[in-house]
Amino acid sequence: MTHDLDTLAERLRTGDRRALARAITLVESGRADHRAQATELLAKLADPRREALRIGLSGTPGVGKSTFIEAFGTRLTAQGLRVAVLAVDPSSARTGGSILGDKTRMERLSRDPRAFIRPSPSQSELGGVARRTREAVSLCEAAGFDVVLIETVGVGQSETLVAEMSDLFVLLIAPGGGDELQGVKRGIMETADLILVNKADGDMKSAATRTAADYAGALRLLRKRPQDPQGFPKALTVSAETDEGLDAAWSEMQALAEWRRAHGHWVARRAEQNARWFAEEVRQGLLARLREDPATREAMERLSRRVADGTLPPSAAAAQVLDQLPEASGR
Ligand code: GDP
Repeated sequence: MTHDLDTLAERLRTGDRRALARAITLVESGRADHRAQATELLAKLADPRREALRIGLSGTPGVGKSTFIEAFGTRLTAQGLRVAVLAVDPSSARTGGSILGDKTRMERLSRDPRAFIRPSPSQSELGGVARRTREAVSLCEAAGFDVVLIETVGVGQSETLVAEMSDLFVLLIAPGGGDELQGVKRGIMETADLILVNKADGDMKSAATRTAADYAGALRLLRKRPQDPQGFPKALTVSAETDEGLDAAWSEMQALAEWRRAHGHWVARRAEQNARWFAEEVRQGLLARLREDPATREAMERLSRRVADGTLPPSAAAAQVLDQLPEASGR
């Protein structure tokens, strides 16, 4: 696969979805030459004026994520907005059976000319998934999308990862039977900006209303965050099947985003996310460089065995590896 990067960048900037798909394939590739091209392409496309609203969406399998994205996304595109859907699905978390971002489960949206849906790649390592998703988000923004929905299962670290690359984080839950908070981890409650109790229709409507009230109560007990206006985080009911509550949910997302923009929290959050991403790239890059040298790689394997059997503390082992690096000038 050879790419004329200038042509690809140009086509992508016009919003061409095939160019976007090709560019994402490039950032997903594990090949070193593709990595270099991906880096170059991202640099070519960097444009802070092209900014989407990044919405992280999490929920356990079966809660209705696909149905919600289909219904919600279609409402947004009907308003003239361009919507991209990306999925974060480290295969270790793919235990619920459903493949995230599966186009057959979002049939209407996948045929919508204003939408772009990218299923998760079959990649297992969380670090690789993080980079791929961050870069895919950047590519969607460069392609002029207004909203990027980043979908993940409410399992393990992938949720935290998505929260860390979103402007807003939405947790989708199902109506509960009792007053228990369905084992939603406290950390996730604290990251969520909006909790949406889905399936608020038919027989489940009253249960959904009760569940939303329980969560609203629990959210009020959480420490108030400086980046939130009065009343946030919120819990609302929605139905992805009847569309009830979807417009209200969108209004809340917009209100929160606008408030954060007006108070400087939006810029601060993005700056912090970018700084973290940069540090992570340096860390990963350093590790990769170290492993490139056969002698160092061998030494690392040897040290790793000693760390594993407890004969060498991890810090001492790491110091030995870092001693292989050239001295920084001035030290
Ligand atoms: P996902 O695994 O989180 O993506 O969940 P799906 O979108 O595949 O939905 C799981 C099941 O819940 C499907 O049978 C959907 O038809 C159903 N479902 C999703 N949203 C709603 C809703 O708002 N109301 C009702 N009654 N069922 C829903």
